[in-house]
Amino acid sequence: MKIYKKSTKLDHVCYDIRGPIVEEAKRMEEAGESIIKLNSGNPATFGFEVPDVILQEMIKNLSRAHGYTDSKGIMSARESICKYSREKGIPVAGVDDVYIGNGVSELIMIAMQGLLDNGDEVLVPAPDYPLWTAAVNLAGGTAVHYRCDELSDWNPDLQDLKKKISPRTKGIVIINPNNPTGALYPREVLQQIVDLAVANHLIVFTDEIYDRILYDGGEHIATASLSGETMFVTMNGLSKSHRIAGYRAGWMVISGNKAMATDYLKGLTMLSSMRMCSNAPSQYAISVALENQQSIFDLTGPGGRLREQRDCAWEKLNSIPGISCVKPKAALYLFPKVDTKRFGIIDDQRFILDLLVREKVLLVQGTGFNWPEPDHFRFVFLPEMAQLKEALDRMERFMGTYHQKKSENMNNHEVAV
Ligand code: PLP
Repeated sequence: MKIYKKSTKLDHVCYDIRGPIVEEAKRMEEAGESIIKLNSGNPATFGFEVPDVILQEMIKNLSRAHGYTDSKGIMSARESICKYSREKGIPVAGVDDVYIGNGVSELIMIAMQGLLDNGDEVLVPAPDYPLWTAAVNLAGGTAVHYRCDELSDWNPDLQDLKKKISPRTKGIVIINPNNPTGALYPREVLQQIVDLAVANHLIVFTDEIYDRILYDGGEHIATASLSGETMFVTMNGLSKSHRIAGYRAGWMVISGNKAMATDYLKGLTMLSSMRMCSNAPSQYAISVALENQQSIFDLTGPGGRLREQRDCAWEKLNSIPGISCVKPKAALYLFPKVDTKRFGIIDDQRFILDLLVREKVLLVQGTGFNWPEPDHFRFVFLPEMAQLKEALDRMERFMGTYHQKKSENMNNHEVAV
């Protein structure tokens, strides 16, 4: 029999948010177990409804959304994206510099495929949203991780970032607000990164999908508003702010010094044409969504569901002996630190598997976000209060007795990794 293996291009690609432990959770569910799944930031699975204006607009346009659109997207949506971007100070020249995609995910892949030759480097934060690292590696490049500093509100460590720029570096990825840490970068930090990018002629890729999910009156600064001297690729979309991840609506805006990358831009246009167009019905959601932002502010403001859930999760996690956690200023996640000595943890995947098996709570280990040590995990605070409290109680109970070396499950439970 001829055996087919996955391509070697996938050898350095890791995506644990839907990885082997998730497969194990699926197996447990098939065996009748009920699991609280906090592995993915998918608002729809936690009772968040589609804003009605979006639904109505899509229904209204469905009958004319059956053909391919322009490969960059329909004009009205791109005009709205230009307007939104300019309001945030992003100097986008016009609709030709806007590309609509099937979520930010598709655009990340296109952006990296179009740029990288084998061995080219891109600076990616650690921890990161792991699709960025995966996309760089799959495109033949090397993701070089710069550290974000937990002791400094998870802001990027600029000295580390600077040290990691090499003659092969082509770009810097900034994820702000950040998944998984919930950090919201101050203007001075962003400005210093932009200055480094300008000085080293690097393209800045800035993933701003959480820019409207802010707590405590925080302000989001669009990175591309800070300079015109290098080129910026700003990513954004509706999956989180409008809780419509399944509709797949995202966009990428090019701004700044386009002259340094005219050929790359041709490549981006070529790649977006090759996939014909982004899902057409959801393109019709974009203008109306950008005109109707209030529903997310209601969720994140005082008394709002997301804000209350963030506070509850943060307080409870910090009260568990051996766990400490920076308060998220934005997004949907916490990235708590675990005292590895206290719990004997040397393998964070094992830790997350043990939690799943014992307490039926599914999380993702920190190394799944390219964090180099086994001492963190990501906690999604999307579930409504009762389920959230239940998950946190289970976590507390688990941590009260857990010690990795003595874990009952270490030897008698197998998971395909
Ligand atoms: N970027 C970040 C930082 C994310 O957290 C996510 C999803 O969780 C995405 C991009 C993917 O978004 P989309 O649904 O638009 O593909």
